[in-house]
Amino acid sequence: MFEIPSSQKIDFLSNAASIGLDLADMAGRGVALSQCRVFFDFDNTISKIDVLDDLIERFSIDRKWRLLEQEWQAGKIGSEECLHGQLRSVRVTRHELVDYLSEIDIDPYFHRILVLLKSAGVRPIVVSDSFNFLIETILKSNDVHGVKILANRLRIHEDRLTPVFPYRNQACLRCGNCKTSHLRNEDSFGKVLVYVGDGLSDCCASLQAHLVFAKDTLAGHLRDKEKKFIWFKNLRDVYDGLKGLSHG
Ligand SMILES: [Mg+2]
Repeated sequence: MFEIPSSQKIDFLSNAASIGLDLADMAGRGVALSQCRVFFDFDNTISKIDVLDDLIERFSIDRKWRLLEQEWQAGKIGSEECLHGQLRSVRVTRHELVDYLSEIDIDPYFHRILVLLKSAGVRPIVVSDSFNFLIETILKSNDVHGVKILANRLRIHEDRLTPVFPYRNQACLRCGNCKTSHLRNEDSFGKVLVYVGDGLSDCCASLQAHLVFAKDTLAGHLRDKEKKFIWFKNLRDVYDGLKGLSHG
C-alpha cells in the first residue's frame, strides 16, 4: 500500500494534485483510505439544500441580498463583504434559528461515510464558507457527532447576526474562509487529500486535492481547468467510491 520512497511519494502527490487522480489511480498505487485526509463542503454537499442562501432569503426584511448575491457570483465582491451586507438585513433570534435549522435534513449517506472513515481511523473535516453555529446545529439535530468543522463564526445578539471571519486570506478575500489554507495545513503533509464539494468556494481548494468528488459549479470549473474529478450526484456516489479503497 503506497509504500514508495518518501521523495518519490512527494513527487507523486504534487503531480497528482495538479492533474487529479481517479479511483483506478488510487487502487493502482495501493492508496488506502487510512492514508487520506477527507474534506467536505457543507451546503448542497452534506445538506440537501444551500442552507445559508435559504436562511438569508427566509429571514431578510428586504431584498438587498439578491443584488449582493449577484455581485458575489460575478466575482465583484468577496464573501466577507457579501455576507456582512446580507446578514445586515436578517432578523432572527437564536431560538427561531435553532427551530429552523433543526428541520434541515442532510444526505443520509453522510452517516455511512462517517462509519466508513471511522473504521479507517480518518476524522472527516468540514470546510465551509457558511457558519459554525449553523453547521453544528444541523449536524447535531441529524445525530452526527465528532466531525471537525472549519467555518466562519456567527455572533447572535437578540435578532441580529454578525459574521466573523477567522480564516480569511488577506491576500485574496474571495472567500470568507480560505479552504485552501486548511488543505495546505501541515497535517496534510504526505497525505492523500480527498475533497468533496459543489460550488464557487470549493474551486481553489479542490485544485490542491488529489482526489476530487465534484458536481454543479465545481465540476464545470474543474473541467475548464482540465483536472480529473469524479462526478457525484449525492453522497451515495462518494460512499461507493471511498468504500472501494483499501482500508490499509
Ligand atoms: Mg456548497
